[in-house]
Amino acid sequence: MSKSADAVIVGGGIQGLCCAYYLAEKGMKVIVMEKGDLANGTTSRSDGDCFVSDTNPGYMTHFAAAAIQEVAALAGRLDYDIDWIERGCVLLAETEEEFEIAKEQYRAKIADGIEVRLMDKKDVHEDEPNTAPDIAGGLEFKRGSSLNPMLFAYGIGEAIKKRGGELLRFAPVTGFEKDDTGRISKVLSPGLEITTKNVILAAGIWSAPIGAMAGVELPITTMKGDLLIVEPDVYITRRKTMEIGYNLVRNESGGNVRQISQFMKDHGIGFLIEPTKAQNAIIGFSKYPGDTTVSNNLVTRAMAKRAVRFFPILKNMNIIRSYAGLRPGHRIMSQLSQAQRFPAFMSAPAIVETGSCTGLSPAS
Ligand SMILES: Cc1cc2nc3c(=O)[nH]c(=O)nc-3n(C[C@H](O)[C@H](O)[C@H](O)COP(=O)(O)OP(=O)(O)OC[C@H]3O[C@@H](n4cnc5c(N)ncnc54)[C@H](O)[C@@H]3O)c2cc1C
Repeated sequence: MSKSADAVIVGGGIQGLCCAYYLAEKGMKVIVMEKGDLANGTTSRSDGDCFVSDTNPGYMTHFAAAAIQEVAALAGRLDYDIDWIERGCVLLAETEEEFEIAKEQYRAKIADGIEVRLMDKKDVHEDEPNTAPDIAGGLEFKRGSSLNPMLFAYGIGEAIKKRGGELLRFAPVTGFEKDDTGRISKVLSPGLEITTKNVILAAGIWSAPIGAMAGVELPITTMKGDLLIVEPDVYITRRKTMEIGYNLVRNESGGNVRQISQFMKDHGIGFLIEPTKAQNAIIGFSKYPGDTTVSNNLVTRAMAKRAVRFFPILKNMNIIRSYAGLRPGHRIMSQLSQAQRFPAFMSAPAIVETGSCTGLSPAS
């Protein structure tokens, strides 16, 4: 079968779908090619946060703030329920030493124009009585939201179709053809060839072998992240809450102040809880080199223990599911010059610095 398009987008995760959506809005005829179903990859493994609480100061905080605005605007335009919850979030400092870090982060966020409140021990417990009584303090971010990333992907998919775009599910890209000038002219899949002048590679952690088919080298490594789902039973907390160690692990800065085991340090383990619209809660987090999406039992046990440390009420609750995802481990934005120069071939990896929302945002 033959088809043609103004642009072919490889990958039906959030990045590919966002690229396709905005191009379709501009009137381009787009075709998304996805080897599985939509959100088949890392998108379905994400916890769906859109916050500025974990970004480094300066550029990344401004980038995440813009990303959140764009996600909110897009969510509002979709004719689809994506489990949007807009309640801000809280970061907890376990010890007095961490509370000093919280104060530094507070000053940096204020300097970046972010609405944030420094909370002492009393404020933390007034805000959420289920928090462990000895937690030293925290930060409250007034803005920010969470969403269900799979529903977000499906919603964008519907919007692409409404704008004349085509979604080809179970259509793996297996090769490219080039014209006499060396420009890509066709995208190949079993039983299908699509003539196009523009290819956007948005295959996330699978981008390297596809790039190689086009002669582009992409340096992609993977970092694993595990998540747990708690049964919907009793009230735990009303909004997303994590330990300030989340920032220290994600931004690879000063993680050693946390009083945790070597195993936890090696696996980037810390506490995060996020209530969902279905009244479950997602428990995180971990970040360590890995290349399978099979949950690591030792890691998930350590995560559960850490969660009980911050919210003792979780001790008697059941975990009903665990899963893991692979994020790109490499910050390659600055290394894409080869791909950028390659005619007709663009890479749209969600491989930015760090920060909730940047991975899921159309702004990436
Ligand atoms: C545990 C965890 C928690 C996270 N939490 C957050 C968060 O709270 N907020 C946030 O912003 N980000 C978060 N992220 C990051 C975020 O999930 C990713 O940045 C984002 O989903 C990447 O989207 P993508 O479209 O680039 O990749 P993917 O979703 O992986 O999409 C790539 C797609 O390409 C397809 N593909 C592969 N090969 C081919 C082929 N040959 N042909 C066609 N298609 C192909 C795959 O099937 C896949 O569907 C988290 C990540 C993890 C692992």
